[in-house]
Amino acid sequence: MPLVAIVGAGPAGLMAAERLVAVDGLEVAIFDAMPSPGRKFLMAGKGGMNITHAEPLADFIGRYGSRQAVIEPLLKRFGPQQLREWIHGLGIETFVGTSGRVFPTEMKAAPLLRAWLHRLRQHGAHLHVRHRWLGWADDGALRFATPDGEKIVAADATILALGGGSWAKLGSDGAWVALLAARGIPVAPLKAANCGFDVAWSSHFSERFAGQPVKPVVASVAGRRLQGEFNITAGGIEGGLIYALSAPLRDALEKTGHATLHLDLAPGKTLERLTADLARPRGRDSLANHLRRRAGIEGVKAALLRELLPFSASTATDQLAAAIKHLPLPVTAARPLDEAISTAGGIAFEALDENLMLRDLPGVFVAGEMLDWEAPTGGYLLTACFAIGRAAGEGTQAWLASADG
Ligand SMILES: Cc1cc2nc3c(=O)[nH]c(=O)nc-3n(C[C@H](O)[C@H](O)[C@H](O)COP(=O)(O)OP(=O)(O)OC[C@H]3O[C@@H](n4cnc5c(N)ncnc54)[C@H](O)[C@@H]3O)c2cc1C
Repeated sequence: MPLVAIVGAGPAGLMAAERLVAVDGLEVAIFDAMPSPGRKFLMAGKGGMNITHAEPLADFIGRYGSRQAVIEPLLKRFGPQQLREWIHGLGIETFVGTSGRVFPTEMKAAPLLRAWLHRLRQHGAHLHVRHRWLGWADDGALRFATPDGEKIVAADATILALGGGSWAKLGSDGAWVALLAARGIPVAPLKAANCGFDVAWSSHFSERFAGQPVKPVVASVAGRRLQGEFNITAGGIEGGLIYALSAPLRDALEKTGHATLHLDLAPGKTLERLTADLARPRGRDSLANHLRRRAGIEGVKAALLRELLPFSASTATDQLAAAIKHLPLPVTAARPLDEAISTAGGIAFEALDENLMLRDLPGVFVAGEMLDWEAPTGGYLLTACFAIGRAAGEGTQAWLASADG
């Protein structure tokens, strides 16, 4: 019976397995370096597993930026709606949150993963944990480091679903980059995506405001403008709004060595309205009180204004209003890849054929975050990993069938 080896038991690898256990006459073995499968998937479930998004498919596909052309056909085969139906098939209900984000009813990943692994095993998949893939032996067989020493597995087809390079302690450490690059496979350098950034805060600001949320606020960079919230950290900024703008910030840092986020601290007021409000007589009010009463600027927002635009009572009203609406916040560096929610860079889609097989390594397929694409948080990461994993499973089946015939 032909053996398919799936290396990496995250959402992409398990979804490829799901597709292949349905095929008669195939043996499916899943290998993972960690003592248990799906560790990053479980981590994604902490604090609310946002598995997909309920917005219209065209908008959803737009989230993949320059990679939407390659991801679109995969999402059309298995997109957000099919993913929800698939989850329901595992006996787990989903709900749509107010922002359109979709969650399993219990908000957690563990019940879903448990039900899924149970079903995979029932359908005959063999899961081998503590099997770290080391590359290929001279005859093309797969080499694994195991607690019982090195093991060699001769597979008829292999699906690599080894993840990106963040949160290495959960298993995806990016060590595969060197193994594939040595085989001449083009791999774009792995970079942090959906990450925080360093800011050179004064020690007073950092000590006083680390951990505080800034909201509501509009942030813009490189023509992208988004409303939301973010958190101050001891050495910088992080949170949903920052993650959503992390790609242009990271790219600007890479290109020019500096990047600036512009903040609108009073998103509910136009510049004209704010200028007029601040121009009203202050009477005996302190400037801080005046800013609070007339512009709603207080607490961490007032501190940000002082930190980034040292001003005094004599600062002109229109200057103050302009700063509140367009406050430059220079960031100095992206946080390290290991801290990021996800990874940009990876194996170029151009290195794959329509079955997601590496053109230069026949019989080796690739899936999930180890491919060169990125997307914001909001369920887009997991949905694409599922869609690509499923397509890799189908591609493997098609290739094995054609090799047979
Ligand atoms: C804190 C956090 C929160 C997140 N929240 C969300 C969210 O709410 N929504 C969302 O859509 N996405 C979220 N993500 C992202 C999402 O979890 C990932 O995009 C997804 O898990 C990637 O799936 P994958 O199967 O490609 O890789 P992974 O899930 O990383 O799985 C790869 C597997 O390969 C194994 N492996 C790696 N190297 C080897 C080797 N040499 N030998 C054997 N096995 C190996 C690893 O142990 C791992 O099990 C979050 C990520 C993090 C870190």
